[in-house]
Amino acid sequence: MPDFKEIYLDNSATTQPCPECILAVNRVLTETYGNPSSLHNLGLKAEKEKIKTSKIIASILKVKQDEIYFTSGGTEAINLAIKGIARRHKKRGNHIITSQVEHPAALYSCQALEKEGFHIDYLTTDAEGNISLEDLDAKIKKETILVSLMHVNNETGTIFPLKEVGAMIKKKNPTTFFHVDAVQSFGKLPCRPSFWQADLLSISGHKIHGPKGTGALYIRNGVAIAPLFHGGGQEKEIRPGTENISGIAGLGAAATRYSKNSTEFYTQLETLKKRFVSGVLKNISEVKLNSPPQGAPHIVNLSFRSVRGEVLLHLLEKEGIFVSTGSACHSRHQNLSHVLLAMKISESDIRSALRFSFSPYNTIAEIDFVVKKLAANVKELRCI
Ligand code: PLP
Repeated sequence: MPDFKEIYLDNSATTQPCPECILAVNRVLTETYGNPSSLHNLGLKAEKEKIKTSKIIASILKVKQDEIYFTSGGTEAINLAIKGIARRHKKRGNHIITSQVEHPAALYSCQALEKEGFHIDYLTTDAEGNISLEDLDAKIKKETILVSLMHVNNETGTIFPLKEVGAMIKKKNPTTFFHVDAVQSFGKLPCRPSFWQADLLSISGHKIHGPKGTGALYIRNGVAIAPLFHGGGQEKEIRPGTENISGIAGLGAAATRYSKNSTEFYTQLETLKKRFVSGVLKNISEVKLNSPPQGAPHIVNLSFRSVRGEVLLHLLEKEGIFVSTGSACHSRHQNLSHVLLAMKISESDIRSALRFSFSPYNTIAEIDFVVKKLAANVKELRCI
């Protein structure tokens, strides 16, 4: 068995920047320091970097380049989409639909809007973390101005049926806007706003080996939203503030790498996950699979019964293996995962849950090593 310095299986929390990203960030920081709003040549060079990345993202999403607005990450894109639509269209209605298992960026944006007088319906989920189309159908009404749902769940990898969701929204109320949080799927699974009839879509750079603090919001041309900030008029006044050009260039480089290798990366992630899950189930007893079998290829959530997830996490860390007890946003808080709670998983199974998330950098040898270490550590903890 080879010796590994470090095995990183927390790629849903963040990823290691790829060499292409580091090169692009370095190049722009050293050579292209102009302000894209400046009229001189250095400004134009910076503007070109921004246009280049917006073209890359637009071509992956199969949308127009001028429909991409850069943000400081997924959280800001989601806040901008949800609050921006709600505040701009409140005269038409005050009803928003989301789900109980969304990322806190969406959940807390909705909670903030409740304080502004909006009414939010939270779709429940089944045991696999999926929503019911009948439930959605029953909830869409004349006053519904927005449905905001994620594509891939960050804790379980559950994939929402967005094609059916989009068709249902537009059939029931064509004036309802549809926002997709594609932070966990962009680059990894096909993301096409047109397939889903989505009007807005959020992405983040650091989940695809790009820089932290980078992201973008797709807004279909013709959809009006209120900005969160006011300032110098950048990004057509939708997201003012001098653009993070080096980060944007890094995001473009990372997105290009993913799109050039999409089939290969997908197969690699799927192979790693299958090998990991079958290895764990074969070698460790009393394990509950919390992710659906047909989930995203890079995320799996498992409960190791009679073992505290947090304790196991730290034992694995001592072996150089990095995993997570749930989403990175929860893990420093004491509360139980709202996603697993919504799936009606028992409290003891939630406390013994760990999330493993893979990247194309991981190898089969790493997976086999982790399975071996997991089995040994679980056995030891169960003996105590
Ligand atoms: N949405 C989902 C599904 C996520 O997993 C995350 C991050 O974990 C976010 C939104 C927030 O993205 P960011 O970290 O870029 O703010």
